[in-house]
Amino acid sequence: MTDKLRVTVWNEFRHEKEHEEVKKLYPDGIHETIAKALREHGFEVGTAALDEPEHGLTEDVLAATDVLIWWGHMAHGEVKDEIVDRVYKHILEDGMGLIVLHSGHFSKIFRKLMGTSCNLKWREIGELERLWVVSPGHPITAGVGEYIEIEHAEMYGEHFDIPEPDKLIFISWFEGGEVFRSGCCYERGRGKIFYFRPGHETYPIFYQAEVMQVIANAVRWAAPSHGPEVTFGHRPEPLHPVG
Ligand code: ZN
Repeated sequence: MTDKLRVTVWNEFRHEKEHEEVKKLYPDGIHETIAKALREHGFEVGTAALDEPEHGLTEDVLAATDVLIWWGHMAHGEVKDEIVDRVYKHILEDGMGLIVLHSGHFSKIFRKLMGTSCNLKWREIGELERLWVVSPGHPITAGVGEYIEIEHAEMYGEHFDIPEPDKLIFISWFEGGEVFRSGCCYERGRGKIFYFRPGHETYPIFYQAEVMQVIANAVRWAAPSHGPEVTFGHRPEPLHPVG
């Protein structure tokens, strides 16, 4: 047994196989780049991918996962609903944390958790992004400056059709003029969810130390709190005599 937090990095792992440019940047897949950085942050990290049986997200894998990280883009529709339901249950009932990255805004699991379209504006011309910290006391911002700059980013712009975040951590400004809520915290059931915007597949964003620092902080924040088991339904016996 280990007392390290256990992270599973899920990647659809398609761009890296199909697009030369992406393969060059992330030769072992985006998930392996993220996993390597998180191991350096002291976590026990496994990976899972869409084309593995049960998308690599078996009951055993999820039961041994404190925080699941999700990266998907071109194959959201191929993720089986039964696996989405399984992940959802682990979040709400067991308190597994979830970190959704970048284009994961359109993943089935994020849309199911949010209950909205999660749609947004986008443009891909490699412009500058500046993520401003708007909650400097929040643990997800530990060790980060007042802002993070990403030299070349895909733009995501408001309106981002999400429910009001329980806590907003970052707002992005883009060179072209748009803004975006790029770090959003939610609680659903016993679980915690963090949406973090950076991470387009053709830019080396997951090699950037500040980005990985935020993800590492988010792992610690989203980890299960091991609070009380909850019960629902008919409760015929009062705690104290009544009347
Ligand atoms: Zn993208």
